[in-house]
Amino acid sequence: MRVEYDKDTCIGMFQCVAEWDAFERDEDAGKAVLADSEETDGDLFVREVPDDAELDAKFAARACPVDAIAIYDDDGEQLIP
Ligand code: SF4
Repeated sequence: MRVEYDKDTCIGMFQCVAEWDAFERDEDAGKAVLADSEETDGDLFVREVPDDAELDAKFAARACPVDAIAIYDDDGEQLIP
């Protein structure tokens, strides 16, 4: 499972931080930070989701009010949002 975080879209409500500890607060920027991610084009941050964090990652994606977090399965199919 893979997560993509669109930092540009994030409005810093920090619901994701409460759901998965891979998301951290950047209070100065008013944005979440996705730990251990790689930045790709367009302010997208991506990383693999460990097996034991899949539920937390899904909850974080569902909690985001602006759909800044997308979850993909290993076949590349988008599961959330
Ligand atoms: S829940 Fe969404 S908008 Fe809020 S901090 Fe996380 S990614 Fe940003």
